[in-house]
Amino acid sequence: MRAVVMAAAVAAMLAVGGGALASPHPQAEAQALDLAEKAIALRSVRGPGNQTPQVAALYAAALVAGGFAPQDVTITPVDETAYLIARWPGADPKLKPVVISGHMDVVEAKPADWRRDPFTPVVENGYLFGRGATDMKLDGTLAIAALVELRREGFKPRRDIVIEFSGDEETTMKTSAIIAEQLSNADLVLNIDGGGGVLDETTGAPSYFTWQGAEKTYADFQLTVTNEGGHSSEPRRDNAIDRLAATLLRIQAHRFTPELNDLTRAYFVKAAAYQPAETAAAMRAFAADPADKAAIATLSANPAMVGKIGTTCVVTMISGGHALNALPQRAEANINCRIFPGHKPADIMAELAATADDPAVGVKDVTVGSVANDASPMRADFVAALTKSLAGVYPGVPVFPSMASGASDSMWFRYHGVPSYGASPVFIKDSEDFSHGLNERTPIANIPPAISYYLTLLTELAK
Ligand SMILES: [Zn+2]
Repeated sequence: MRAVVMAAAVAAMLAVGGGALASPHPQAEAQALDLAEKAIALRSVRGPGNQTPQVAALYAAALVAGGFAPQDVTITPVDETAYLIARWPGADPKLKPVVISGHMDVVEAKPADWRRDPFTPVVENGYLFGRGATDMKLDGTLAIAALVELRREGFKPRRDIVIEFSGDEETTMKTSAIIAEQLSNADLVLNIDGGGGVLDETTGAPSYFTWQGAEKTYADFQLTVTNEGGHSSEPRRDNAIDRLAATLLRIQAHRFTPELNDLTRAYFVKAAAYQPAETAAAMRAFAADPADKAAIATLSANPAMVGKIGTTCVVTMISGGHALNALPQRAEANINCRIFPGHKPADIMAELAATADDPAVGVKDVTVGSVANDASPMRADFVAALTKSLAGVYPGVPVFPSMASGASDSMWFRYHGVPSYGASPVFIKDSEDFSHGLNERTPIANIPPAISYYLTLLTELAK
């Protein structure tokens, strides 16, 4: 009954929203929403009372009830959290598995700041509200429900399909690193926590879809100047804070050489259509010539674009001195870098040291929880499968690659040389993306097309 009501509700939503073709799989659609609501009600936040292990139990139970062999579904506790790996064995054990990657934890949410309780899921006005509605409990349950539906329909994969969920993606990524190590023989990874579609702000119709094939490498470098100090009534020319300040200004003025890769070139060419005229012209010019000075100037001045044209480094913290009336003995700064794929952190550190141009300034890599990762190749079989799957539900909607500036679980797979692609089928307005923020919500009209998308995509990748 629930399934029938649900299907009618989403079909009505689709009729209103338009844009997507409904191909209803009522059981899977109802299961995805039901599981997402149950998962949102579990407070899977790092710290005391972390309910990530209960989310793992919820997902595992759904997979086993849906036909996965109990011994193929494992939950492994790590500290206060846990990770889940479930395997659907393929007919040909020689083939490498396709891995679906997600996470179960969510970012902290303070109920007092929200309009509703973040851990009480609510469906209202066509949206699912709650912490994790966007990042990424609904995404996770859509994939689970699609796998269960594939089994229900009798699909027999040729290669193993593995679905895994990390338990600390939003914080330490300890389980993310363990999972990627265990599954480093994967053929490719479908990261369902990345990529996605954009809805037009005015009409709500799907504008375009991007799949994520690269992300920048996160790094922190500490600058330190030490000094003998002394009495502040007897200033000397050599002052630790002054030296650090001068260094910081040289780093502020430094520009890493702008660059392009296959992914970002395709992104600039296609995404230009959705930008104001001046930005669009600069994107096209930069794609044609990454040394174009005018294009670089325009894109560098745009905070949403500057990270896409090269490595960026910026000071984020400073400390120094030990008394109001003493010459400083020590001054420190943290330089946070987002490194363009293809560069080693050590090379960026060397460039920073050269820019500092002061032997008294020590430079040290203090990065925690991040590893360098190159862009994944634009694999033709993946791009073809993805394009076909999207065209089936969103015909005519442009599809192109992108590079993310933040880190995701894909980083750990790319570190092992496994191609990883962010390919969430969820469409959302830019103005309504509240992941990590307040009043997080996702349109439930996404559910029917997302299920159909996964059925095609997983069939294509595992057949
Ligand atoms: Zn996420």
